[in-house]
Amino acid sequence: MEYFVLAYYLFTPVDDPALEVIRHKEFFNSRDVKGRIYLSKEGINGQMSASPEAAGEYMEWLHSDPRFQKISFKIHRHFEHCFPRATVKVRPQLVALDQEVDMGKTGAHVTPAAWKKMLQERGEETVLLDVRNAYEWEIGHFEGAERPLLDQFREFPAYAKKMKETRDPSQTKVMMYCTGGIRCEVYSALLKKEGFEEVYQLEGGIIQYGLDEGTHHWKGKLFVFDDRLAVPLCDDASEVISRCRHCQETSDLYFNCANMDCNELFIACPSCADKLQGCCSSPCQTAPRVRPYQKSERPKPFRRWPKS
Ligand SMILES: [Zn+2]
Ligand SMILES: [Zn+2]
Repeated sequence: MEYFVLAYYLFTPVDDPALEVIRHKEFFNSRDVKGRIYLSKEGINGQMSASPEAAGEYMEWLHSDPRFQKISFKIHRHFEHCFPRATVKVRPQLVALDQEVDMGKTGAHVTPAAWKKMLQERGEETVLLDVRNAYEWEIGHFEGAERPLLDQFREFPAYAKKMKETRDPSQTKVMMYCTGGIRCEVYSALLKKEGFEEVYQLEGGIIQYGLDEGTHHWKGKLFVFDDRLAVPLCDDASEVISRCRHCQETSDLYFNCANMDCNELFIACPSCADKLQGCCSSPCQTAPRVRPYQKSERPKPFRRWPKS
């Protein structure tokens, strides 16, 4: 069977996010749905895989609620579920930032078609900014994008401050993009707060760009936060630009280090993964809590074991 993989978000006032969590859980109860859905007072952010039937019912159900009417769903297809279970939770913020930004002052939305045109006409004064983490852009990004070395969402504010020191905010145009668009909503507001006047964000993120425009101006694949990890931007796009950490052979296979106290997500080739038993380094191989290595053609993300 083929599953639908949905990615969606909307900033919209939700008075009682805990109640929405209950409503969601009830809705999922009798349906073939797995995923990660977060609700907060500021809106909803979700990723899920579902049978085509359940996906259709869910989209209709959400759209019938005036608060969620404007949600735009990005849809991939996959041969199996992409999440281990259905998780629905309340979160204080949809994008963890540890500071307030004015969501009324975000960057201008640019459709994938217009984005492609802007890329073609891009001049010196325009920074193309990949706001994802380093382990994400390592396997794919827009050509010529500035790719800050970030490990976590929370590190972006510090980068925005640094950017202001190296570039004149009144003379710099910023085109920023992320996976599905939600991070740009918050980060573009942050850049504007820092004084950057002209900020553009890719609407629907890389996912929507791939669906609409394919791989024009794109190199490699797309990192996603589910069991697929690396997906082509569109059908028959299979370029691999990343390399094995150990031997530099081209690979876009991610592994969570088998040392559970490390668990770092890294890229390796199959033979080095075998040799190091799924570890990111030889010290990790001899660490006290190493889980058994299981050979697999497409390894899935692994959650850290709780510390006992
Ligand atoms: Zn290797
Ligand atoms: Zn490690």
